[in-house]
Amino acid sequence: MDLTALHEEMRSWRHHLHANPEFGFEEKGTAAFVAARLREFGLEVAEGVGGTGVVGTLKRGTGNRAIALRADMDALRIPEQGELPYRSRNPGVMHACGHDGHTAMLLGAAKLLAEEGGFDGTVRFLFQPAEEWGRGALAMLDDGLMSRFPFDEIYGLHNMPGVPLGHFETAPGPFMSAEDNFEIVLKGLGGHAARPQATRETLVAACALVMDLQTIVARRIAPTDIAVVSVTELLTDGTRNALPGTARVLGDCRSFKAEVSAEIEQQMRLIAEGVALTYRCAVEVTYTREFVPLVNDAELTRHALAAAAKVFPVEAIRAAREPVTASEDFARFLDHVPGCFVYIGNGEGSMPLHNPHFDFNDAALPHGMGFHAAIVRERLAD
Ligand SMILES: [Zn+2]
Ligand SMILES: [Zn+2]
Repeated sequence: MDLTALHEEMRSWRHHLHANPEFGFEEKGTAAFVAARLREFGLEVAEGVGGTGVVGTLKRGTGNRAIALRADMDALRIPEQGELPYRSRNPGVMHACGHDGHTAMLLGAAKLLAEEGGFDGTVRFLFQPAEEWGRGALAMLDDGLMSRFPFDEIYGLHNMPGVPLGHFETAPGPFMSAEDNFEIVLKGLGGHAARPQATRETLVAACALVMDLQTIVARRIAPTDIAVVSVTELLTDGTRNALPGTARVLGDCRSFKAEVSAEIEQQMRLIAEGVALTYRCAVEVTYTREFVPLVNDAELTRHALAAAAKVFPVEAIRAAREPVTASEDFARFLDHVPGCFVYIGNGEGSMPLHNPHFDFNDAALPHGMGFHAAIVRERLAD
């Protein structure tokens, strides 16, 4: 098939998606666009899987193995800055994470594989909603994804700013972190700023709490484990001449193992209770798990690297990238089947992800598409 024409087509899909971004679970136009393209290519298509998710199925030959390729479709609530001709037409929402590129690349792979085949078995093309807030994969799984569209293994990718264009990175084992969120509410008694002794004010308590939380990673988690505890907000109901009776401390934790996440929570509760006792307040801790750790299967990572070697020059492949303390909803699928998640370079001059000037690099479209097609042919060899 004419690859130059396909690259041009992916670019035009990408620009259409970039101009029409939609927030998580609101990807109606995007899902309709994806479903229409997949039907044009001759795939079986299911829409509304987990809200706005789309699943395309392509079968060739008689093989009974199935692999899934996954892209994410959602955009962010960030007002786009800059003057791209295809900039967002949906005020306050933009594709600042490159999911427009991910969707276009997976569509390109679907078109290529539908036309050329070169594999024996079933490919599931998963277009998931709401990756950014870590809910879309679970929504698809809760909607019967694994029983309705079974598959044995799964692959996904993300563009990576700062990694040179045409480069490929992954690693076996723990690759991306869990994300936990917390909110600690201290309740005392507010009162006049001139008479602190008559209050049980909460601001000094909250400041002590913020400092003590720093000891979780420094003194309570093994130095050989990776963990981050970041306090990101401190809110009170005080004003210039009134001491607050309530203080809220919010934040975000990262880790790569369930037992480390559990330890962070336990130590946080202990510290919060100790501070509350010291400062004569009541305390309530809410600790939630938003993303689970992403752990790449060792054997399938070897296959992903073998597929990458068909697309990327050997010197542009990094087989043991260090783990990243960012999180990915793709990890939820790995609770059900083994798989591998990889990065492709978005260029050294790329804006960071989630920056209001970010733009997916169109020159990377053939790389992601090529990897998707190559892993299908590697794992479903005919
Ligand atoms: Zn993102
Ligand atoms: Zn993303």
